[in-house]
Amino acid sequence: MKELWLQQLTNIINNNIDFIKILKINKKNSKQFLYRQKNIFFNVKIPIIFTKKIEKTNYKDPILLQFIFNKKELIIHKKYNNNPLNEKFIIPGMIHKYKNRILILITGICAVHCRYCFRKNTKQINSIKMCHWNQIINYIKKNSEINEIIFSGGDPLILNDKKIDFFINDIKTISHLKVLRIHTRIVSILPERITINLLKIFSKCNFHIVIVTHINHYNEISEELFNKISLLRKIGLTILNQSVLLKNINDHDKILIKLSNTLFSIGIIPYYLHLLDKVQGSKHFHVSENKAKKIMKKISSSLSGFLVPRLVKDIYGKKSKNFII
Ligand code: SF4
Repeated sequence: MKELWLQQLTNIINNNIDFIKILKINKKNSKQFLYRQKNIFFNVKIPIIFTKKIEKTNYKDPILLQFIFNKKELIIHKKYNNNPLNEKFIIPGMIHKYKNRILILITGICAVHCRYCFRKNTKQINSIKMCHWNQIINYIKKNSEINEIIFSGGDPLILNDKKIDFFINDIKTISHLKVLRIHTRIVSILPERITINLLKIFSKCNFHIVIVTHINHYNEISEELFNKISLLRKIGLTILNQSVLLKNINDHDKILIKLSNTLFSIGIIPYYLHLLDKVQGSKHFHVSENKAKKIMKKISSSLSGFLVPRLVKDIYGKKSKNFII
């Protein structure tokens, strides 16, 4: 019998018609969400269990708007493109931007499809190929200044335990590696993903593991998530969160203050607040830098310093992040 999170993962909504139906959004308010399937490269994807966090009939719900397709995605904007970070791969699946760390796109698959994702127009990779994985391991072994590996994607934790164990066992052989960072959204979407077996795999590691969750609104946080974060912390993992500043979803100081406080109450430290990466089809989520700065000023005066995420943006062609505040 399949593990619970795998069952939840196969029970998904993959089109707006079902999405609208399940949430009972009326005809008038659902017009903006209607489309022809052939126009969509990056299909709608959300596990049904997670839709329970969306308020029925509310077409402005902050979770709904992150996952439902909007007609505005089809409008082409000049300053937006398909690869807004200009990502370049040294080996397929591997990016080496910073001296001490490398990023590995271990899989292209996610539990949800976030409509603002900066990889939404390039998400075609499945799991990394073994020949490339071996090349990556050799590359890290030869470059002793690399002390951190970032698993990204896609969502690394969508892989089954066997695969995760395999990847971790391989990197365990690299003596100069000190940190494994895992960027994941599935932890908050399907907290059941944190299984006893996965905890065992993490416990066996001889390096520090940092989990970076992706939560944009406090409505995404559940008691089940709190329980699983407690288990991860018990075995010594550090848990951080990154959010994207999104128009009509979390672009208000009160929402971000409540988000930081709620994250902290379940053991997660707010880490980054990203300005939107200008990927084609996401302009309707854009919040200006000026507005972002004003919001940051307000939240900084209401929260302890360690609860204020750093406002950052990636600039096309630039190697490092630009820290705005
Ligand atoms: S989970 Fe992350 S990688 Fe996947 S669609 Fe959302 S933002 Fe993109």
